[in-house]
Amino acid sequence: MSDHARVKQVEMNYTKDRPKAKKPLKIEDLSLRDGHQSLFATRGRTEDMIPVAEKMDQIGFWAVEVWGGATFDTMHRFLGEDPWERLRTLKRYFKKTPFSMLLRGQNLVGYRNYADDVARLFVKKTVDNGMEIFRTFDALNDFRNFETVVPVIKECGAHFQGCICYSLTEPRMGGDVYTLEYYVKKAKELEAMGADSICIKDMAGLIAPYDAYELVKALKANVKPMIHLHSHFTSGMSPMSHFKAIEAGVDIIDTCLTPYAYRTSHAALEPFVMSLLGTDRDTGFDINALADINEILERDVLPKYKHLLDDTKVSVIDINVLLHQTPGGMLSNLVNQLKEMDALDKIDAVYKELPRVRKELGQIPLVTPTSQIVGTQTVNNVLFDTPDERYKMITAQVRDLCYGLYGKTSAAIDPEVQKKALKGYERGETPITCRPAEVLAPELEKARKEIGDLALDDEDLIIYALFPVTGKKYLLQKYGKEKVPDTVKPITLEEVARQKEMIEKAKKGELVEKSKIKEAPEKSPHIRTFNVFVDGDYFEVGVDEVGGSPFITSVHSAPASAASSGSIKPAAPAKPASPLPPPKPKAAPAAAKPTPEKAVEPVVTDGTPIKAPMPGMIIRYERNVGDMVNEGETVVVIEAMKMENALPAPVTGVIKAIHSKSGDSVARGDVLAVIG
Ligand code: MN
Repeated sequence: MSDHARVKQVEMNYTKDRPKAKKPLKIEDLSLRDGHQSLFATRGRTEDMIPVAEKMDQIGFWAVEVWGGATFDTMHRFLGEDPWERLRTLKRYFKKTPFSMLLRGQNLVGYRNYADDVARLFVKKTVDNGMEIFRTFDALNDFRNFETVVPVIKECGAHFQGCICYSLTEPRMGGDVYTLEYYVKKAKELEAMGADSICIKDMAGLIAPYDAYELVKALKANVKPMIHLHSHFTSGMSPMSHFKAIEAGVDIIDTCLTPYAYRTSHAALEPFVMSLLGTDRDTGFDINALADINEILERDVLPKYKHLLDDTKVSVIDINVLLHQTPGGMLSNLVNQLKEMDALDKIDAVYKELPRVRKELGQIPLVTPTSQIVGTQTVNNVLFDTPDERYKMITAQVRDLCYGLYGKTSAAIDPEVQKKALKGYERGETPITCRPAEVLAPELEKARKEIGDLALDDEDLIIYALFPVTGKKYLLQKYGKEKVPDTVKPITLEEVARQKEMIEKAKKGELVEKSKIKEAPEKSPHIRTFNVFVDGDYFEVGVDEVGGSPFITSVHSAPASAASSGSIKPAAPAKPASPLPPPKPKAAPAAAKPTPEKAVEPVVTDGTPIKAPMPGMIIRYERNVGDMVNEGETVVVIEAMKMENALPAPVTGVIKAIHSKSGDSVARGDVLAVIG
């Protein structure tokens, strides 16, 4: 064969005209949902999907995931976009490729179980607006949480894809919970529920290639529905695991277009297309058409999102995931949480405590929201437990879990932990064993009354029913009753170009010249001087923080009234013998400014203070000034890392002062109340 002929043959093979494979691998593209959710905090805008939508529709994807997961929340909250409108808009461009969404079972697209009436209407309206495939999962793999949504999915003629959350307690599949038998049993349950396909949902990128092979083989042998593998790249194993799954006969895999691939997202599509070219699993995709799409994305879309990429590390793989078998996002949450509490030195204790807490809470899979529930409780245990008492501070969500409100755990919850968690629990001290939503009263009519005329249709009503606070705010903006804040407006390519220009100028030193023309502000006494060396040049630079002094100056310099911003005047003010801490800048980056506890610890002589053990937001006070409180009773509830923590009275007495109110942000060590 001459060189010329070889080139010709390759060209022909790149196009869609090559012979069709015997069993082409089906591909679901996740770029427009999980891709930007994983890499860009779900900030992708509809206007940035349109430029590639028609071209993507031509590729031949089995489905495109465009909705669900965090999109519904993020769109109305941060982007000023109507989530329903996105579905309808994209539908005009995707004329033949089915739409898929991620549905969190009875949690729908939120973070708690909603009542059955809300769940039914949600699924129905979602189908009405163009959804065809419902990828449905439950964080506990308790499929009773599917019982309400699945019949509606089926009645509407849509595709029910049942997920099994992939979890591990050991480095590889096995141990005493997440065995091959466990997954086969779960798949059979889904098949019995009428699943049109079954998805192994490996949200943390834990599945190892040979386990993927074994698992897919076993599922193919035991159940009829198509088998689909969803695996995040996080640990670096996913392309290998996908490949072994393909060899084992997996029907569908999930990938992203290159610009949306890798890191905590998914494997890229293009290497699969090339690797399978000419084989019996050839996708049949036109690699040139994919290159066109990537070029548009790189040129016209991704520059607007690049700043959202987590570029703190050069590595694209998170090795910690391999070491601790926990989702990458959960690990970075734990680190941030400890940093905020100035306790990063406890990270090893947290890694040690984590498997223990998880085991005591029933070896549940770690995925939103269970990863936060287990993670936060672990941090609480490490920071607040004493040698003779564990679980000193139990979050509200752990109580709910112990009550059975999330469903049945994979293994039994430790009876002692459960008993302690349910002591005085508002719904009762005996856990439920029924389907969780059975204890929930209908919510729709109440929501309809509350939102009134502001909801013009059922779609509006659902936005409010799912997200009462932010949803109502969005509806006010949507109908022009409130101004749309600038923060939700998109960034343009022109702005990106301007920023780039500024950076170039700064690099060349031109910005320094300009700044000389500007009149310099007066130097404050807090100015700090740094020596800066650039390629052999030396500069002396004074750094003066704009808008105030640097953090922690001296405990003696601040007046008592500045104790905590937004604090209400206590009815019976505690008279501090020495001044309270200086005001803390709210936006101070936790890592950059250490917060030595000694320097800010307030001294209150005539009472016992209840201090914030962690930074967070006050949810509510359960006692007022003048109220009697017994030791151990809850005085105030504080939210930290999305979890609620009830702070008990350290002594019996009368509440003499309350220093904050609901909605206030507080720093660690702030005095929230005083008992005298
Ligand atoms: Mn995912």
